[in-house]
Amino acid sequence: MKVIHGRETDAPSIKQSDGFTGEVWADPVLRGAEGASVHTVFFAPGARTHWHRHSHGQILHITGGSGVVVTRDEAVEVRAGDTVWSPPGAEHWHGAGEDGYLIHTAISLGEHTWLDPVTDEEYKHRLDPGNR
Ligand code: MN
Repeated sequence: MKVIHGRETDAPSIKQSDGFTGEVWADPVLRGAEGASVHTVFFAPGARTHWHRHSHGQILHITGGSGVVVTRDEAVEVRAGDTVWSPPGAEHWHGAGEDGYLIHTAISLGEHTWLDPVTDEEYKHRLDPGNR
Protein backbone atom coordinates (compact mmCIF):
# COMPACT_ATOMS: atom_id res chain seq x y z
CA MET A 1 0.00 0.00 0.00
CA LYS A 2 1.22 3.51 -0.81
CA VAL A 3 -0.27 6.69 0.56
CA ILE A 4 0.35 10.14 -0.91
CA HIS A 5 -0.43 12.53 1.92
CA GLY A 6 -2.46 15.66 1.25
CA ARG A 7 -0.21 17.67 3.53
CA GLU A 8 3.41 17.24 4.46
CA THR A 9 3.65 16.23 8.12
CA ASP A 10 6.08 19.05 8.92
CA ALA A 11 3.80 21.66 7.37
CA PRO A 12 0.81 22.65 9.53
CA SER A 13 -2.37 24.05 8.04
CA ILE A 14 -2.02 27.78 7.47
CA LYS A 15 -4.71 30.26 8.43
CA GLN A 16 -4.72 32.70 5.53
CA SER A 17 -5.03 36.45 5.94
CA ASP A 18 -3.26 38.47 3.23
CA GLY A 19 -5.25 38.13 0.02
CA PHE A 20 -8.33 36.62 1.66
CA THR A 21 -11.55 37.71 3.37
CA GLY A 22 -13.12 35.54 6.08
CA GLU A 23 -11.84 32.26 7.49
CA VAL A 24 -9.61 30.43 5.04
CA TRP A 25 -7.20 27.57 5.75
CA ALA A 26 -4.65 26.17 3.33
CA ASP A 27 -2.57 23.00 3.34
CA PRO A 28 0.57 23.01 1.22
CA VAL A 29 0.62 19.82 -0.87
CA LEU A 30 3.46 20.60 -3.24
CA ARG A 31 5.89 23.44 -2.79
CA GLY A 32 9.16 24.27 -4.41
CA ALA A 33 8.37 22.84 -7.83
CA GLU A 34 9.48 24.99 -10.74
CA GLY A 35 6.72 27.54 -11.16
CA ALA A 36 3.92 25.35 -9.78
CA SER A 37 2.35 24.98 -6.36
CA VAL A 38 -0.50 22.83 -5.09
CA HIS A 39 -2.64 23.68 -2.07
CA THR A 40 -5.80 22.30 -0.53
CA VAL A 41 -7.87 25.29 0.54
CA PHE A 42 -10.86 25.45 2.87
CA PHE A 43 -13.20 28.47 2.78
CA ALA A 44 -15.76 28.86 5.58
CA PRO A 45 -19.16 30.21 4.47
CA GLY A 46 -18.74 33.79 3.23
CA ALA A 47 -14.96 33.49 2.83
CA ARG A 48 -13.25 34.29 -0.48
CA THR A 49 -10.01 35.40 -2.08
CA HIS A 50 -9.30 38.95 -3.12
CA TRP A 51 -9.29 39.68 -6.84
CA HIS A 52 -6.05 38.26 -8.27
CA ARG A 53 -4.38 36.75 -11.32
CA HIS A 54 -1.86 33.97 -12.00
CA SER A 55 0.86 34.62 -14.57
CA HIS A 56 0.59 31.11 -16.04
CA GLY A 57 -2.95 30.25 -15.02
CA GLN A 58 -4.58 28.12 -12.34
CA ILE A 59 -6.53 24.89 -12.12
CA LEU A 60 -9.12 24.64 -9.35
CA HIS A 61 -10.56 21.22 -8.59
CA ILE A 62 -13.49 21.37 -6.19
CA THR A 63 -13.34 18.49 -3.73
CA GLY A 64 -15.96 19.48 -1.18
CA GLY A 65 -18.94 21.76 -0.68
CA SER A 66 -19.80 24.47 -3.18
CA GLY A 67 -18.94 28.05 -4.04
CA VAL A 68 -18.28 30.47 -6.85
CA VAL A 69 -15.54 31.39 -9.29
CA VAL A 70 -15.93 34.94 -10.59
CA THR A 71 -14.19 36.74 -13.46
CA ARG A 72 -14.68 40.33 -14.65
CA ASP A 73 -17.26 38.93 -17.11
CA GLU A 74 -19.04 36.10 -15.35
CA ALA A 75 -19.79 34.28 -12.11
CA VAL A 76 -20.00 30.50 -12.11
CA GLU A 77 -21.35 28.31 -9.33
CA VAL A 78 -19.11 25.31 -8.63
CA ARG A 79 -19.48 22.20 -6.51
CA ALA A 80 -17.56 19.04 -5.62
CA GLY A 81 -16.29 17.28 -8.74
CA ASP A 82 -16.00 20.42 -10.87
CA THR A 83 -12.71 21.63 -12.36
CA VAL A 84 -12.07 25.20 -13.48
CA TRP A 85 -9.24 26.49 -15.69
CA SER A 86 -8.36 30.11 -15.18
CA PRO A 87 -6.16 31.32 -18.07
CA PRO A 88 -2.86 33.21 -17.62
CA GLY A 89 -3.40 36.78 -16.47
CA ALA A 90 -7.20 36.51 -16.14
CA GLU A 91 -8.44 38.47 -13.11
CA HIS A 92 -10.72 36.44 -10.87
CA TRP A 93 -11.66 35.46 -7.34
CA HIS A 94 -13.04 32.29 -5.76
CA GLY A 95 -14.70 31.33 -2.53
CA ALA A 96 -17.59 29.79 -0.65
CA GLY A 97 -21.22 30.80 -0.85
CA GLU A 98 -22.95 32.45 2.06
CA ASP A 99 -24.45 29.29 3.52
CA GLY A 100 -21.92 26.54 2.89
CA TYR A 101 -18.19 25.83 2.85
CA LEU A 102 -15.94 25.25 -0.17
CA ILE A 103 -12.87 23.02 -0.40
CA HIS A 104 -10.72 23.02 -3.53
CA THR A 105 -7.33 21.86 -4.66
CA ALA A 106 -5.57 24.81 -6.28
CA ILE A 107 -2.81 24.13 -8.79
CA SER A 108 -1.24 27.54 -9.35
CA LEU A 109 1.19 28.18 -12.17
CA GLY A 110 3.69 31.01 -12.13
CA GLU A 111 3.45 34.12 -9.98
CA HIS A 112 0.23 35.37 -8.46
CA THR A 113 -0.66 39.03 -8.10
CA TRP A 114 -3.16 40.16 -5.46
CA LEU A 115 -5.55 42.97 -6.34
CA ASP A 116 -8.48 44.59 -4.46
CA PRO A 117 -10.54 42.74 -1.85
CA VAL A 118 -14.05 41.68 -2.86
CA THR A 119 -16.34 43.95 -0.86
CA ASP A 120 -19.38 42.50 0.94
CA GLU A 121 -21.60 44.41 -1.51
CA GLU A 122 -19.83 43.00 -4.58
CA TYR A 123 -19.79 39.50 -3.05
CA LYS A 124 -23.55 39.49 -2.42
CA HIS A 125 -24.18 40.97 -5.86
CA ARG A 126 -22.20 38.25 -7.67
CA LEU A 127 -23.80 35.45 -5.63
CA ASP A 128 -27.25 36.49 -6.79
CA PRO A 129 -28.16 34.23 -9.74
CA GLY A 130 -30.00 37.16 -11.32
CA ASN A 131 -26.68 38.96 -11.80
CA ARG A 132 -24.77 36.22 -13.60
MN1 MN B 1 -7.02 31.97 -8.35
